[in-house]
Amino acid sequence: MKLKSLFTTLVLALLIASCNSNKKENSSQLNTPNTSGDIKIDNIKLLGNIQILASDSLEGRGFARPGNRKAQALIASEFKRLGLETVLETGYIQNFNHTYKGKRRQRMFPVKGKDKNDVNVPDTTLVGGNVVGMIKGKSNKIIVITGHHDHLGIRNGKIYNGADDDASGSAAVIAIADYFKNKTPNHTLVFATVDGEESGMLGSKHLVKNFPLGKENIVLNINMDMIAHNDKNELYACGLFHYPNLREPLTKVNSTINLISGHDDPKNKTQDNWTGSSDHISFHKEKIPFIYFGVEDHKDYHKDTDTFETINQEFYIEAVKLIIQAVENFDTDLK
Ligand SMILES: [Zn+2]
Repeated sequence: MKLKSLFTTLVLALLIASCNSNKKENSSQLNTPNTSGDIKIDNIKLLGNIQILASDSLEGRGFARPGNRKAQALIASEFKRLGLETVLETGYIQNFNHTYKGKRRQRMFPVKGKDKNDVNVPDTTLVGGNVVGMIKGKSNKIIVITGHHDHLGIRNGKIYNGADDDASGSAAVIAIADYFKNKTPNHTLVFATVDGEESGMLGSKHLVKNFPLGKENIVLNINMDMIAHNDKNELYACGLFHYPNLREPLTKVNSTINLISGHDDPKNKTQDNWTGSSDHISFHKEKIPFIYFGVEDHKDYHKDTDTFETINQEFYIEAVKLIIQAVENFDTDLK
């Protein structure tokens, strides 16, 4: 090999190496995939809950619709079965109002014969409901674990069941509460399935702004939205670009799933930035650190085919076990 070409090869190799390391910083493997951890959960109950939440009888859990209220009641009854403490005087359900005005009102609830400027379109106020429960820890510092129970409802006569989005996160909230129910964690764990995510993160915004235990006590939000459907065995943990000190606890999880960081750097044009894509944004806006667990968009995303039948059951169970370990590690490591 001539010296010049050796030099060129070296420069090229260095360039490639530096490109790779840049790429790694933006999106890197966090764990060493191995056998799954020693976490015992009730798989049948987990799958039963996602199946019920995504069933046709809940009519796609549209915001403020009867099927959505059925979902709230179902989750509240699960919290009760597990013996979770209530955080609110009203029980497990935290109701809130959302008023649609003008153009938005007209789009959501069309009025015939409206005038040009929508001035004869009346405001419409709908009532949403978060479901909130708690396991008291040794400290009053809080980790809030969230998923959203609302979805798109019925559109053009089709039920949008939202099994992955986000019956998966909601059933996972219940399973994680079940795992911790007879333990005393270091942090107080608040479990919340929030409402109105698909309408603009309404429920999580309300929860954070009206947090019954004082939002200054929240040290972390762990949000799950779409954790049951992936063919590549990949789950993303988004948020480390903003909160790099949260990396270490995630590297220690034992799982067959590839846990990957990313989707959080606004300058990385090769990936969508998920910082504002789900309820963790309501915490991030209040400077509360978050980790968001989710999968890449898939063929059934926001389609009427996002059903219990199209999720990956084994992947889902393994994802919940992975996230439980993450909660345990954060509970141990965070001060
Ligand atoms: Zn979602």
